[in-house]
Amino acid sequence: MSVLSQLSIRAKVVVMVVGVTSLVLALATIVFGVAQVRAQRAVMLSEATALARGLAPDASTAVLSTDAGAAAEVLSTLGEQPNVLAGWILDQDGGRLGSYVSPAVAPDVLDGIERAEPRPQSGESLTAQFYRGHLAVRFAIRADDRSVGMVDLRFGLAPLEATALRQLSIAALVLPVGVLLALLLALVSQRLLSRPLLSLMRTIDHVSTKGEYGLRAPVFSHDELGQVARGFNGMLEQIQERDAALERAMAELEAAKEAAESASAAKSSFLATMSHEIRTPISGVLGMTELLLDSGLNSRQRRLAESAHRSVVNLLGLINDVLDFSRIEAGRLELEAAAFDLQQILDDVAEVLRTPAARKGIRVETYLDPRTPRYLIGDANRLRQVLLNLAGNGVKFTEQGRVSIRVISRGGGDDPVLLKCRVQDTGIGIQPDALAGIFDQFTQAETSTARRFGGSGLGLAIAHELIRLMGGDIQVESEPGVGSLFRFDIYLRVAPHPETALAAEGETETDAGGLSGHVLIAEDNLINQQLADGMLTRLGCRTTLAADGREAYQLAVSESFDLILMDCHMPRLDGLDAARLIRAWEDGKHHVPIVAVTADVQTETAEKCKDAGMDAYISKPYTNEQLSRVLADFLPHDARPEVAPDRIQATSGQDRAVIDRSALEEIRALQSEGEADLLTRVIDLFLADTPPMLAQARDALASGDMQVLRSAAHRIKSAASNLGAVALSRQCAELERRADAGQGSDEDRLIPEIEAEYQRVAEALRRERVGPPHAASG
Ligand code: ADP
Repeated sequence: MSVLSQLSIRAKVVVMVVGVTSLVLALATIVFGVAQVRAQRAVMLSEATALARGLAPDASTAVLSTDAGAAAEVLSTLGEQPNVLAGWILDQDGGRLGSYVSPAVAPDVLDGIERAEPRPQSGESLTAQFYRGHLAVRFAIRADDRSVGMVDLRFGLAPLEATALRQLSIAALVLPVGVLLALLLALVSQRLLSRPLLSLMRTIDHVSTKGEYGLRAPVFSHDELGQVARGFNGMLEQIQERDAALERAMAELEAAKEAAESASAAKSSFLATMSHEIRTPISGVLGMTELLLDSGLNSRQRRLAESAHRSVVNLLGLINDVLDFSRIEAGRLELEAAAFDLQQILDDVAEVLRTPAARKGIRVETYLDPRTPRYLIGDANRLRQVLLNLAGNGVKFTEQGRVSIRVISRGGGDDPVLLKCRVQDTGIGIQPDALAGIFDQFTQAETSTARRFGGSGLGLAIAHELIRLMGGDIQVESEPGVGSLFRFDIYLRVAPHPETALAAEGETETDAGGLSGHVLIAEDNLINQQLADGMLTRLGCRTTLAADGREAYQLAVSESFDLILMDCHMPRLDGLDAARLIRAWEDGKHHVPIVAVTADVQTETAEKCKDAGMDAYISKPYTNEQLSRVLADFLPHDARPEVAPDRIQATSGQDRAVIDRSALEEIRALQSEGEADLLTRVIDLFLADTPPMLAQARDALASGDMQVLRSAAHRIKSAASNLGAVALSRQCAELERRADAGQGSDEDRLIPEIEAEYQRVAEALRRERVGPPHAASG
């Protein structure tokens, strides 16, 4: 079977036809031969019987008369019968009365013949049987209806053998001829089968290897093979039709994709425009309402202004949410990675929620695991946004009890820290059926409360995505009437030391109070100009206005400012280019802090501002508080004596402490392990640099070179403020201001005062040093 199965159809057809034909022929020949032999035997038998019967009457006479001679005569006629081998006439007792034996019979053959005892055949009279080589026939001799003897004859089988031989020769002739004919027939008939099959096969092969679905298999007949070919052609036609439909669908899809992409591009540019165009007027409204609230209003006017303020703050939140979510959806939100203070974030969140929570009589608690490293690297603003949203919802949906923000940490050192953040409240909770979809966009579980408190249903969706971007996952557990627990775990790297470079908005002290200093406001939009002017004046600063980047640059190089608030988008020269020009002009000799103002909320903004040499940025619209927080990093303010460079200006304080120790502590906190004592190095630098600087100031005063005087005073002021020499720094700032204003009258008094203060400072600082005393004397 397996051999057959491996043959080609052509060979199978040939084998089958030839095999079947040969079998049939052989069977037919055998059957025919057997039938012929049987017929021949029947003929022999009847002839033998007739012969015996013919002898019986004469034999009866011979038996009855017991005449052997007569018996021999009866038998002598047998000599004429060529087939008779022998014959006997037997008497009643079986004794032989007469015998005949053909001369052709050999004696040993006769022996075998004589022994044969044929079985009775039909009736009593005849007994006959074929033996090997002969036929025995006995016929009863009757007289008066009784058996008196028997004619016993033996015939040779020559006719039978002749017939068999003839049959064999016929078979030997017919079989090969038959098989040959069958082979010819098979060869012809297999073509009928294999031709359509082979051509179908060739078509299938072509279609499958070359993918030419336009080909068709030739149809040779209307039989099953023809049907197969037609079926195959039908399938090809369907495939072609489907291909065409697929191509059409692909083209449509491509067109739809292009349309969607251009719609998405339109959406992005719409969002960018919206972020710019909507946030700018909102910033106007927000600022103006803040200024309005600060002006003398009667109680009705105040109520209305407060309501307007609340609405615009909500509107801004909503727009920020929509923008955030669109950016997340478009995959365009990237997280920043900068050093930040986690405690500060928790404090910020608590501070923002303090008033609304107090209004409802609930507590906002924060807990930060003391093992948590102080500075981590991540996107502080986004983390604050998430915590504020979760805790804000807590306050919104809690009527009594508390909202707690807990952060527990694991690991640290060289490995990232695992922060486990939990925001829990004792509020109304969330119904189980609403829990599953709570992080979907525009989902609000409890519409009546939501309506009462506002909200877009986007906050949790944004928080969820932000935490996902940070590599975590927000989970929620809640029981109606008991409260809700939102938790997420994120990994953050530990910052080697606090980053002092670009401080993002809001990453500074929240307790900024009134500020002072001279601020240049570079802003082309008149409303925003007034707004910034109003806010800064209210915060306690002196302001100068510039309508574009070029004016800002000209003012910056010709006047002295403590800070420049620089709008990024301005006509003629934009803020980034103006900042670059100012930095080029400064040439590293001094450094006026520049804070960028931008309505762009893109991630790259910080990078761009930093590249242009700016120190920080604040995004429009900003509140009074946000502005004061950002500026507090660069301008002196009431809440806390500042220790950073350029921060201390001439203020009216009466602080006579020589050194502010917290400044020294801050420097100590920056000490890296294994390094020489940082504070000592800083002090030594100060002790080495300041005396020549003082001498330079004295000389400049004598020669009336106000520019050199101003620069020397500025440098001592910065260095002194770094080391917490508050009074010295303040005196130098005053000297700088006067040199700046070209006032030459009091300098002779101020310089000796500065020198005396320097001596006190130097003495105090020497006590803080570690190691052998410094060579330079005060
Ligand atoms: P919204 O801006 O409406 O607050 P969120 O996505 O922040 O949007 O919240 C979606 C909804 O989830 C809320 O409207 C409120 O029904 C439910 N929810 C969120 N936080 C809490 C909570 N702490 N307690 C009860 N319900 C909450």
